Amino acid sequence: MSKKPKPSQAKKSKSKNNNLWDHRDLGQELDLFSFHEIAPGAPFWHPKGMIIFRELEKFARKLNDADGYEEISTPILAKKEVFEKSGHWEHYRDNMFWFKNPRDEKEVLVVKPMNCPESTYVYYSKIRSYRDFPIRLAEIGRLHRNELSGTLGGLFRVRQITMDDAHIYVRPDQAEEEIVRVLKTIANFYKMLEFDAEYFLATKPEGALGTKKEWDIAEKALAGALAGSKIKYSVAKGEGAFYGPKIEVHIKDSQGRDWQMGTAQLDLVMLPDKFNLSYIDEDGKKQKPFVIHRAIFGSFERFIGIILEHFNGALPFWLSPVQVKILSINDEVNSYAENILKKLKENNIRAEIDLRNESIGKKIREAEMQKIPYLLIIGEKEAEAKKIAVRERGKGDLGAHTIEEFLSLAKK
Ligand SMILES: [Zn+2]
Repeated sequence: MSKKPKPSQAKKSKSKNNNLWDHRDLGQELDLFSFHEIAPGAPFWHPKGMIIFRELEKFARKLNDADGYEEISTPILAKKEVFEKSGHWEHYRDNMFWFKNPRDEKEVLVVKPMNCPESTYVYYSKIRSYRDFPIRLAEIGRLHRNELSGTLGGLFRVRQITMDDAHIYVRPDQAEEEIVRVLKTIANFYKMLEFDAEYFLATKPEGALGTKKEWDIAEKALAGALAGSKIKYSVAKGEGAFYGPKIEVHIKDSQGRDWQMGTAQLDLVMLPDKFNLSYIDEDGKKQKPFVIHRAIFGSFERFIGIILEHFNGALPFWLSPVQVKILSINDEVNSYAENILKKLKENNIRAEIDLRNESIGKKIREAEMQKIPYLLIIGEKEAEAKKIAVRERGKGDLGAHTIEEFLSLAKK
């Protein structure tokens, strides 16, 4: 059993000589986001940064749709009674934003710090039968946590958090199979981004809620799901949540730092008991479901910060705000170049064009600073042959291609 590495939140030097990159600098250089005094711990997303955010959102929804999730949205403001019920009001109040309604002193409202408690209201909007399970409710929820201002750091520690959250309501006998599905999605996601993921099974801590029998079922389900998925893992003894064991997924970035990313937590008691959840079994009796809390990449903000640093701003093609830039050598080829731009846009490629009267060397240098995956250079030779000269980020000149050849290259 190996010891679990501590997730690093260490601030890195801004020096680029030792290959350490800071997402705050990259955010500025690539015009992605900014932070302002008037909103501590909350990024202002610029148009290009918002493209990354939206692509991630689209991708999260695509995974959810393919996996049989249904999307919900629960209120950002809810009465404190919900959070009294969940225990957050008692244990977590200093980390929450809350206020008395100025128009009704008796009403105390909380800005939700997590989606879980309110998800149960959707579950409870009708009577649930054993046949309905699993019920997979996804929510890309906007959360707020009152982090101390001294601890805020770029996108890594924010007060406003967007989570790729989901709560899966299962019968206890379905927990293992469902966690196998979650693990498969998580593994594919990190493989796609070429991250090596490491898995930890965090077991029952001291003073945990729930019975021994429930913990045995839950820990067995998680261990069984890991083994069934042929995933190597380490046990993090006693590091589970107080309401159930969890699987943590860690990755190492290009700077050697360890990050805790996705989780699958099997909740035996927090939602099921505190919110008195039930379903009707085959014999018409009330039973208690388990709830799986799962996230694939956790917070959008932190994930974007991590991948920016990991790739030093050179994001994969599908996440790049500008995927292709067309650079013209002189005015003679402008109309041909604009025609190429039109074709790219018709093929849903995010493209820009640089028709300025500048040297091609300067145009290439500037576009390379923006870490754009492909540059298409057009001079009279290319225009005449109805071709484009392709330069790929990190690879250099790929030679002359027709637009059709380039489109099939880019689509790969
Ligand atoms: Zn949750």
